[in-house]
Amino acid sequence: ALTIGIVGLPNVGKSTLFNALTRQSILAANYPFATIEPNVGIVNLPDERLDALAKIFGSQKILPATVSFVDIAGIVKGASEGEGLGNQFLATIREAHAIAQVVRVFEDENVIHVDGKVDPTSDMETINTELILADLQTMENAIPKLEKQVKGRKAEQATLDAYLNAQKTLERGDTIFSSITKDKLDMEHLGQLNLLTAKPFIYVFNADEAVLNSAEKQAELAELVAPADAVFLDAKLEADLVELSEEEAREMLELNGQEESGMDQLARVGFSTLGLQTYLTAGPKETRAWTVNQGATAPEAAGVIHTDFQRGFIKAEIVNFDDLVAAGSMADAKAAGKVRIEGKEYIMKDGDVVEFRFNV
Ligand code: GDP
Repeated sequence: ALTIGIVGLPNVGKSTLFNALTRQSILAANYPFATIEPNVGIVNLPDERLDALAKIFGSQKILPATVSFVDIAGIVKGASEGEGLGNQFLATIREAHAIAQVVRVFEDENVIHVDGKVDPTSDMETINTELILADLQTMENAIPKLEKQVKGRKAEQATLDAYLNAQKTLERGDTIFSSITKDKLDMEHLGQLNLLTAKPFIYVFNADEAVLNSAEKQAELAELVAPADAVFLDAKLEADLVELSEEEAREMLELNGQEESGMDQLARVGFSTLGLQTYLTAGPKETRAWTVNQGATAPEAAGVIHTDFQRGFIKAEIVNFDDLVAAGSMADAKAAGKVRIEGKEYIMKDGDVVEFRFNV
């Protein structure tokens, strides 16, 4: 499964947030304790459509899609040079498919800041500098080798150009991800380097009430990190929320002027940042959201349920979620001509409710 690595300076609220994430994954009934690794938090992707489908089909169970987070401890200044937990840190982060950087914006004189003051811009720079330095190291190793290969006609000049271009971005102090458009970076040629700063970034601002209730402050911070996504939450509040019943949690969110928990937001943003989408299946046994890559074809989607489904794929019967709800039942949706038959070339859309036909 694709995972999001959580990084950040010490004392910014990573553990607090991560504990909330793991607490929720333990509570999620579909994950037995034994399968959860200590540094992995698996959270449900919120999806109101599942409840509606379960009602229509009288499903006994609801299985939402999930998003996995990995706690990556130990980034400090000098991490790129292997100081402290540096090397292990870099190896773990390289395995993640996206990076969620927790940034402290909450004020609390009882919580010491490693650099003496709350300064999100400077904190992000500290973390990103370590990642950028690690990438520059990767580049310095890769470029001379590639130059030789290009001379020997074993590699393309275009690849070398892409490397040199990316090196310029890094030398300027920018991450690859934030500069793809700006610097016309050729990601296809850069792919094999698995650069840390080429991974999609999410910034998780651990905020207090003042920031959570200020659209203006949030807009400022969001602009600072664009094109990366920004999520605003209060890690302490999130830790409290997971201990409450659904009803109580909703009341507490309301009291804090929030419509949705920070974890739900993080799950949604994380899911789409990973380039994923869902499709839905429903029946009397269960209603379920299945995860596919954006752009997946119908047979690929079938393969997520079972590899046999992909191999023996014949066709997919698909109805759009809204059409199904409007019709009220599968039979009525069929009668209204809303159920389509799609073949091998069909590209899955978010909100497709699907039944596959296949040979075994
Ligand atoms: P980590 O070092 O990044 O893992 O940070 P921790 O999660 O251990 O948090 C460091 C300290 O900050 C702890 O005492 C937390 O209780 C506190 N803390 C974390 N999040 C918040 C927050 O949103 N508001 C306040 N006031 N304190 C927080």
